[in-house]
Amino acid sequence: MSDVQCFPCAFLLPHPLQVYNVDVMPDSDKSVSIVQRRTRPRQAVTNAFREAARPLTPEEACALAQRKHRALGIATVYRTIKHLTGAGLLIPVRVPGHPTRYEWVRQDHHHHFHCQSCNKVYPIAGCPRGIQALTPRGFTVKHHEVTLYGLCPACGLKRKSKRN
Ligand SMILES: [Zn+2]
Ligand SMILES: [Zn+2]
Repeated sequence: MSDVQCFPCAFLLPHPLQVYNVDVMPDSDKSVSIVQRRTRPRQAVTNAFREAARPLTPEEACALAQRKHRALGIATVYRTIKHLTGAGLLIPVRVPGHPTRYEWVRQDHHHHFHCQSCNKVYPIAGCPRGIQALTPRGFTVKHHEVTLYGLCPACGLKRKSKRN
């Protein structure tokens, strides 16, 4: 996509998947070049999204990435999100009334569950049947979003133990 081009030189490396393959980054400080020092905070952000098993808000990604890079700021998170979204590696996940979250791209068709207690969003496998049957005659469905709301297992247990 064209907006990838507007990023500074550190982003203009051969392919986004190679740029963000942190596994190949050397750990020895002596071998860390200026470019690597600049890109490492972005890789920490990228890793936060890759390793999370759920969509993250920029703030959530920032908090996770700060475990690796304390000084990392929210501006780096937004820049990295813009780049990864442009490269098709992050997909925006929108829950009405909430800030946009971003999820590492995956191949399967899936939907989301919003925990109303901890405010986390989780992917759920599969898709409800009968969506076509809901569609009035003459309408054509091009896309659909399904969000389930409730409590995640951890929050469900907390509720139960409070009651007992
Ligand atoms: Zn929860
Ligand atoms: Zn579906």
